[in-house]
Amino acid sequence: MKKDIRSLNFDELRKWVSVHNLPAFRADQIFTWLHKYGVCDFDEMSNVSKELRKTLSEEFYISDCKIENKFVSAIDGTVKYLFKLTDGEYVESVIMKYKYGYTICVSSQVGCKMGCRFCASTLAGYKRNLTAGEIESQLHTAQKDLNIRISHIVLMGIGEPLDNFDNVIRFIENVNSENGLNISARNITLSTCGVVPEIRRLMDFNLQITLTISLHAPNDKIRSGIMPVNNKWCVKDIIDVCKEYISRTSRRISFEYTLIKGVNDSDECALELAQLLKGMLCHVNLIPVNNVEERGNIRGSDRSINNFLHILQKNGINATIRRTLGSDINASCGQLRRKKTEVAQ
Ligand code: SAH
Repeated sequence: MKKDIRSLNFDELRKWVSVHNLPAFRADQIFTWLHKYGVCDFDEMSNVSKELRKTLSEEFYISDCKIENKFVSAIDGTVKYLFKLTDGEYVESVIMKYKYGYTICVSSQVGCKMGCRFCASTLAGYKRNLTAGEIESQLHTAQKDLNIRISHIVLMGIGEPLDNFDNVIRFIENVNSENGLNISARNITLSTCGVVPEIRRLMDFNLQITLTISLHAPNDKIRSGIMPVNNKWCVKDIIDVCKEYISRTSRRISFEYTLIKGVNDSDECALELAQLLKGMLCHVNLIPVNNVEERGNIRGSDRSINNFLHILQKNGINATIRRTLGSDINASCGQLRRKKTEVAQ
C-alpha cells in the first residue's frame, strides 16, 4: 500500500531522502512542493529529476481533495466547499474573510463519533480519520481556487480533532513550517468537546495555539443531556485539566457556549457559569445556536442572548458573542456534514 507523502513531517522526509542516498537538499525541495505550493502530482515537481519523481510515485501518493461543490454566501461572502477525498468520502470546509485576513475552518475526520445533540456533523456517524495531508489539502485547494492566502486556521469543522491527535499535531507542525505554508501557531485554534486525556497530552507539545473547549453547559446535568462525551469526562474533569493547561502553558483558554433556548440559556446558567470560571485566565465565546433541520435547535431572542452576556460580564468573566457567518449556505458552527446534498444544507 502506498503512503501519503503529504502526511510525512520534514524529519521523516529527510530520513527517506538519506536512506535513498540522495543529497539532503532534495528533502527541502520535495517538502516545499508539497507544503508551500500544494502540488497534487509528482510531475509538477519541476526541479526534481524524472527518475526521483518515478521512485516517489512508486512508494507514495499525494493526498488531495477535489471540489465537488462550492457555495458562496450572498450575505457575507463566506465560502463553503464540499470536498471529495481520494477514496470518495466527503468533508466540508469554510473560508471566512476577516479584517486581518482569511480564516479556514477545516475538518479533521469524516463524520464524528461524539454525538452532540445540536450538531449536524455527527448525524451520519463516523467513517474515518483524515490524514495530516488531507487536513492540509483543504487549505491548498481553497487557496488555489480563490487565489488567496489563508493566514488563520480553526480546527472547528467536521470531527473531533483530539480524537485524531497524531494526525492533527503533524498537520499543525507541517503548516507551521517555514518551507510550507508558514502559518504561525498563534493563528491556529483547536476546538475540542473535552477529550481530557488528550488535552493533557497536548500540554507536553507546548504549542502556541489557542485551545477552545466546547463547554455549552455549567453543570453535568445539562451537559450530559446535550453532549454524551460528558458521561466520560465531566465538567469538573474539564475545568481541572484546563486549570492545569493554563498553569503549564500560560495560555488563555476559550470556552464555547452555544445558547439553546430553554436548555442552557437561563439567568441561573449564566450565574453558575460565571462561578465555575471565576478567576481563570479564559474567555467565553457565546454562540447563538444555528439551525440544523433534524435537531430542532431553538435560538433565543437577541435580548436573551445579550442578557446572558451581561450576566457573565457583570460577574467578571471575559465574554463576547460570536458573529454568525455563512448562515444562508449552512456554513455556520455545527452545520457541516460529510454528505453530498442538492442544496447548501
Ligand atoms: N468537535 C470539536 C470541533 C467542532 S467546533 C468541538 O466539539 O469543539 C464547532 C463548534 O460549534 C463546537 O463548539 C460545537 O459544539 C459548536 N456547534 C455544534 N453545533 C452547533 C449549532 N447547531 N449551533 C451552534 N454551534 C454549534
